[in-house]
Amino acid sequence: MERQPGTEWIALELARRDAAGLRRDLRWVDSAQDGWVTLDGRSVLMLCSNNYLGLANHPALREAAMVAARDTGVGAGASRLISGSMRAHRELEERLAAFKGTEAALLFNSGYHANVGIITALVGAGDLILSDELNHASIVDGCRLSRARVHVYRHLDLDRLEDGLRRPARRKLIVTDSVFSMDGDVAPLPEICALAQRYGAMVVVDEAHATGVLGMTGAGAVELHGVRDGVTVQMGTLGKALGCFGAFAAGSRQIVDLLINTARSFIYTTALPPSIVAAAGAALTLIATEPERRARTLARAQRLAAGLRRLGYSVPAGGTPIVPVLLGGAAETMAHCAELLAGDVFVQGIRPPTVPPGTSRLRATTMATHTPADIDHALEAFSRLQAGKQAALA
Ligand code: PMP
Repeated sequence: MERQPGTEWIALELARRDAAGLRRDLRWVDSAQDGWVTLDGRSVLMLCSNNYLGLANHPALREAAMVAARDTGVGAGASRLISGSMRAHRELEERLAAFKGTEAALLFNSGYHANVGIITALVGAGDLILSDELNHASIVDGCRLSRARVHVYRHLDLDRLEDGLRRPARRKLIVTDSVFSMDGDVAPLPEICALAQRYGAMVVVDEAHATGVLGMTGAGAVELHGVRDGVTVQMGTLGKALGCFGAFAAGSRQIVDLLINTARSFIYTTALPPSIVAAAGAALTLIATEPERRARTLARAQRLAAGLRRLGYSVPAGGTPIVPVLLGGAAETMAHCAELLAGDVFVQGIRPPTVPPGTSRLRATTMATHTPADIDHALEAFSRLQAGKQAALA
């Protein structure tokens, strides 16, 4: 195709990424998302999905989606405020509020939409946001869009957070992942809520990786730490442990009314399809009736982390299904990823800008549908890799 005017820079940009080992390409999955998948034509152990409870291909979710599509169609027609607020949306929102122990909840089309919408609805010019440096990109983008001043504090550093809170502002908002997506560690929510109380700040907690996984009933880290009343908005996603797609904000009736009126990523987008909303309802039922799923996910992560440490890998302590294997360089990380894949184990390499330079890693995640033998299979692949490295050094 003839090159279009003004686009010469694109080939250069892609070449620059190639040269830096930062080029990203899609891999193709030809099966359902499960503990094992068909990736680029081969069966491999899926060790990097956020489908923590293994619900994405569960018969109950598939059935709920099919029934909803049969009875109420596939499209919501328009945004919720125009034509799209369907019974399925209302029922799921009521269940999500009960699950999170809040007065109300509001669906968003994704966690990305939710973070952008929640943050921009709560703060604007003249306000101050306190944001952990390792917060998810959608939080970073919400902060930028809000036009508020942003004080980025060192990861989990309560002193740096308090320094920021001392600055004067019309409104203050602390925003944090509860489980950090690339590190799998958990924010000190009780201390954060105590600081918020002292300085009169709102608190938004992104429970994308905790919802369905942590806490007595699987409601998340807010439940685990017993800080529900100190949190202004609990954000959760439906695309990870719940195996579906979409997200939600849970909070007071007032907050939800505010979001309906001012969250632009809620107002100006077509509503979630009823099939996916119905499937998320089925996932909530399974979370309540099969608590052993989250126990299994966490036990698999523990087995994997302990085995990797025995092999000499650097694996920070977590207590979540996210098991990062810190390697450092982007090229080394992607070479590890390719070698593991040759041994039927798929663990995606994570490079800048998703993580800070020099902290590239394999981000392994476990699922309830992995067996102990699956984890041992992964450990054998890591062990072969380690043995190869040592032979090369000898
Ligand atoms: N927050 C966090 C912490 C995440 O890890 C992600 C997804 N990776 C999101 C928000 C965005 O959620 P979604 O995929 O539903 O857009």
